[in-house]
Amino acid sequence: MKPAPFEYLRPESVADAVATLDLYGGMARVLAGGQSLVPMLGMRLMRPSAVVDINGLGEELGRIETRGSETTIGALVRYSDAETSAVISERLPLLRTAIGYIGDRQVRNRGTLGGAIAQSDPTGEVALVALTLGATVVALGPDGEREVAAEEFFVGSYANALAPEEMITGLRFGVVPASCAFFERGRKHNDFAVLSLAIAATPERDGSWHDVRVGMGGVNDTPVLARATMARLEGARWDEATLAAAAAAALEDADPPEDVRASAEYREHLLPIHLRRVLAGMAKEAGHG
Ligand SMILES: Cc1cc2nc3c(=O)[nH]c(=O)nc-3n(C[C@H](O)[C@H](O)[C@H](O)COP(=O)(O)OP(=O)(O)OC[C@H]3O[C@@H](n4cnc5c(N)ncnc54)[C@H](O)[C@@H]3O)c2cc1C
Repeated sequence: MKPAPFEYLRPESVADAVATLDLYGGMARVLAGGQSLVPMLGMRLMRPSAVVDINGLGEELGRIETRGSETTIGALVRYSDAETSAVISERLPLLRTAIGYIGDRQVRNRGTLGGAIAQSDPTGEVALVALTLGATVVALGPDGEREVAAEEFFVGSYANALAPEEMITGLRFGVVPASCAFFERGRKHNDFAVLSLAIAATPERDGSWHDVRVGMGGVNDTPVLARATMARLEGARWDEATLAAAAAAALEDADPPEDVRASAEYREHLLPIHLRRVLAGMAKEAGHG
């Protein structure tokens, strides 16, 4: 199929883009990497009156910036730029690793971090890492800028807290725990995830772990934190019994969907097995295992 007719607009600044979105009163869509929007237009799953192409706004939206312990990634930063950025490798290795699981090289060369957050795919790697690391989404609308914690941003499957006349300008991360791991199981290499896990925590010399964050993708209609698991792991030594109990507790925060990729039952089966393995791997790497 071909898209329904729409106006194609190229704003000259972020302010101009927001004014255009406001003018169309919810009937305009931002075009970033186009890796999700273009297929959705082609299938007529979306029929906006206008498409606002922000690809000319790299000067304002295409930077990775640091200020003290904060790292801010512009909405138009492509996956491949983040993947090869020394700043991201050093400060956000969990994000770098997770990006390697997204689509294929072509998708990563075009797709943007802002687009991934706006798309709010429940299996999206960037959304999962943002939630796990407690990132903040920076949005600009006609009334100015606001910051939304990732925990409040994702409100449902492909749904988020962004107003139609707002756009994402960046994603901000603070200090992250010292150790991290990412796991993903899909039907085939680089397919959308059936189950994904993002974990960050700081190992102490006495064998205990602190600042524990465990995020899960593919087990709910948004990425979710495994709060029951986190409570069992925080301040604890990760011995075999603790890890088994903590991994089993992840099911308390999961309500897996049934879809073309996997049954809910299969996702529930995979979750504690892989979570325990990933945690044990982190403990071993820290010399605790
Ligand atoms: C073959 C293939 C495989 C893929 N595999 C994966 C995968 O494994 N994991 C994964 O997470 N994704 C995957 N994707 C999707 C890909 O990651 C998309 O790039 C991403 O979902 C959207 O980013 P984009 O920059 O292309 O956004 P676009 O497609 O341009 O836009 C997507 C949506 O976000 C909105 N939007 C974009 N930028 C902004 C902004 N700054 N502010 C407000 N709204 C905005 C658009 O209006 C649109 O609604 C895949 C896509 C393809 C084609």
